[in-house]
Parts: sequence; C-alpha cells; structure tokens
Amino acid sequence: MPETITLFSEKQNCCGCGACADVCPRNAITMQEDDFGFRYPAIDTEKCVSCRLCQRACFFQNKEVTNEPVKTFAAALQNDSILRRSASGGAFAALALKCIESGGIVIGAAFDKELKVKHIAISSKDKLPLLQGSKYVQSDTSEIFKKTKQLLLSGKKVLFSGTPCQVAGLYGYLGKKYDHLVTVDLICHGVPNQRMFGDYIRSLGRVKRFSFRDKSIGWGINGSAIIEKNGTDKKMILWGNESPYLYYFSHGEIYRDSCYSCKYACSHRPADITVGDFWGIEKQHPEYLKAGGFNTDRGLSCAVANTLKGLDALNNCKDIMDICNSDFAKAAAGNTQLRKPSSFSGTRMELLSIYSEYGWSAVEEHFNKNIGFRRYSSRLKSMMPKKLKTFLKRIK
Ligand SMILES: Cc1cc2nc3c(=O)[nH]c(=O)nc-3n(C[C@H](O)[C@H](O)[C@H](O)COP(=O)(O)OP(=O)(O)OC[C@H]3O[C@@H](n4cnc5c(N)ncnc54)[C@H](O)[C@@H]3O)c2cc1C
Repeated sequence: MPETITLFSEKQNCCGCGACADVCPRNAITMQEDDFGFRYPAIDTEKCVSCRLCQRACFFQNKEVTNEPVKTFAAALQNDSILRRSASGGAFAALALKCIESGGIVIGAAFDKELKVKHIAISSKDKLPLLQGSKYVQSDTSEIFKKTKQLLLSGKKVLFSGTPCQVAGLYGYLGKKYDHLVTVDLICHGVPNQRMFGDYIRSLGRVKRFSFRDKSIGWGINGSAIIEKNGTDKKMILWGNESPYLYYFSHGEIYRDSCYSCKYACSHRPADITVGDFWGIEKQHPEYLKAGGFNTDRGLSCAVANTLKGLDALNNCKDIMDICNSDFAKAAAGNTQLRKPSSFSGTRMELLSIYSEYGWSAVEEHFNKNIGFRRYSSRLKSMMPKKLKTFLKRIK
C-alpha cells in the first residue's frame, strides 16, 4: 500500500499554482474548489504511487527566493494604442513584443469566451491584446507548466508571465534553469477566485467583454463592461469603489488564504523581472512628470530587474519604451506589496461565509448596507482637475 501524501497542512501553505497537478505522472491530482471557490489540489489515492514528485515541485513550501533587485525603473511604452490596452505603462507588452520579434513564445493570462481567465501561449503580435490588461482573479494554469517545458525543450525562447507564486510554481515544476526562459512576475495584492468573479459578472447582465482597468477614464482601478441588452451593446463604467467586486478586491477582503502571508511580497522576487504600477510617481519622481516627460493619464510601469537576464531584457526594450532610473525603495514607497503581504479587516471571513451560504447577491447586499458614501470616492476623484490631483498626491 503506497504511503499517503500530504500536499499541504493548512490552506495558507498552498498558493494554488497547480504545479503538483501538472507534474504528476499518474494524473492523480486535480484542482478542486473549496466552499468559497478557491482551488486546491486533491489526490486520488487509487492512482497515487507516492513518488513524491508533487511535493518536490512545490516551490511555495520548499524553496526560498534569493534574488535581490538589480535595478529599478519607471517606464512607459511609446506606442499609444498598445499602451492603452495595458493596465500600467505597458512594460509587459514591450517585453512581449521583443520576445515575439525574436521568434519566441509569450505566456500569460487571457480571458476565454466565457470570461474565465486561463494561461495561454501566443506567438504572434496580433494575439498580444489577449494577454494585455490585468485580470483580478486567479488564473487557471492547468497544463501551462507542461506546455512551457515542451517549448523550452524544443529550443524555443519563452517569456512567461504571471503572479509571483505562478512563476515560482513554474520553476518548481521545471526543477532547473533554462537560459532561453525569461520570467515576469506582477506586483500582486492577492487573488480572488473565478467562481466569485463569474457570479459577479452574471449579476451585471449579459457581459460580452470585461475590463478591470479602463484607461478611457484615466489610470486607476476603475473598470468597464460591455453588456448586451435587447440586441444592443452598451458600455457600463465600473467605478472601483462602486463595484462590490472591485471594492472588496482593492481592499484586500476576498483573496485566497495564502495571499495574506505571501512570501514574495518583498524585494526577493522569483522572476527575472517584476512589473507593476508606479504608484506615487508624483512624490518620488516629480522631475519625470515635467513637460515632455511621462504622462500619468496613460499609465506608468514600475519595472524591477531581479536578475542580470532581466536587466538585459529591459534594456533591450529601450527603443520602444521610455525607461528612467529609479530605485527599489522609491517604487516600494507607493506599492505596499513590494514590502509586505496584504492584510484584511474583520470583514473577510464574514463576506466569504455570506458568499458560500447565500451567494453573490448577499455579498452585494452587505456592500450596499455598509459602504455608504465611500463608494463615490473613485468617481469624484476622476472628476478632479489633474493639477489638483497631482498636488494632493504629492502632499499625501
Ligand atoms: C491579481 C493581480 C493583482 C495585482 N496587484 C497589483 C498591486 O498591488 N500593485 C501593482 O502595482 N500592480 C498590481 N498588479 C499588476 C498590474 O495590475 C499590472 O498587471 C502590471 O503592472 C502589468 O501591467 P503592464 O502595463 O506592464 O502590462 P499589461 O498589458 O497590463 O500586462 C498584463 C500582464 O498581466 C498578466 N496577468 C493579467 N492578469 C493576470 C492574472 N489574473 N494572473 C496572472 N497574470 C495575469 C498577463 O499575463 C500579462 O503578463 C496586479 C495584477 C494582478 C493580476
């Protein structure tokens, strides 16, 4: 009788990357939803032969990241129409374009037709919009580590992007470094799950397209949805603090357990490059915002090279992306998740219990009862003149 394998003892020890399921030679591990919709690996003991490959592939529990920031930049893609589709300053798109130009494959998170988020691989520039833009939900990575390995073994250059725990998951799965693999991790608040996101969008109507970050209303966490009603498509703006999903996401109340003790919310990042928003640029680098400099309405990236390979890849983008020197402390000053994991208030467990017992509509009721006038703050902020906004941000 093979020995029973325990993959994790407490939920906070499993980041849900799925490397254990992908690596299992017997397909004995499947990812299954808990009561709240978060996915965890479950072993079919009939199929398991206790080879322990799954445990060895778990980077999150077994390995430490030793990378230190090599160089930090503020950056923005020069091409305006590509930049508009990116959540921040398009640093990811610049790296992806360079990879595709050199015959490589880019891997990242995309919406499918049912608006589920899944990691996919692309090899042409016309597919880049699929990967652009943040999707604030845990992406499904099943099979993608296997696919990445096949591509690397065939000699293809690969740019792999994802949350830090997904990048760590890839390294755990691969078990060794490849010179022709470049990785990008996102500065990450934490991830809600797809069941909750699906319930939320269904509550909006027949959603055909969804954007978590719509730049037509500025650089911030305001989204939009294209909704079909009586045969016509209508755009609905989703102000960050008026949408219960976006509100509870940005206030840290609906992430999976492991996000609140994330090992990568610090300067030791698993990927070659870390990208995020350069929040706080007004205070940290007012000199870069002077006439002719960066335009914050279009979004701005913070890009950290964590390895020399990452630095080379960023330097290689200089002809398509404006890059200015910064330093890690300045980037981290406005971005908590470069210093520590997210925390939650007492509301999280209450919200998750309400959700699992009564469904999404009860979460909305809770939101409507408790948030009050705070909900209008995103809309009001967007109406402020830019100069006043910049002034307030600088003195904040
Ligand atoms: C769940 C989540 C939380 C985040 N929290 C923060 C934060 O606290 N602070 C901050 O500065 N930035 C955060 N970001 C990152 C930020 O929103 C942008 O994604 C990042 O700055 C890249 O922007 P870009 O303009 O370079 O490229 P974009 O074109 O916007 O790049 C999209 C990139 O994001 C990846 N991606 C999108 N959605 C997912 C997903 N669900 N799972 C894995 N990868 C995904 C794509 O693969 C691609 O690499 C978060 C992103 C996500 C997905």
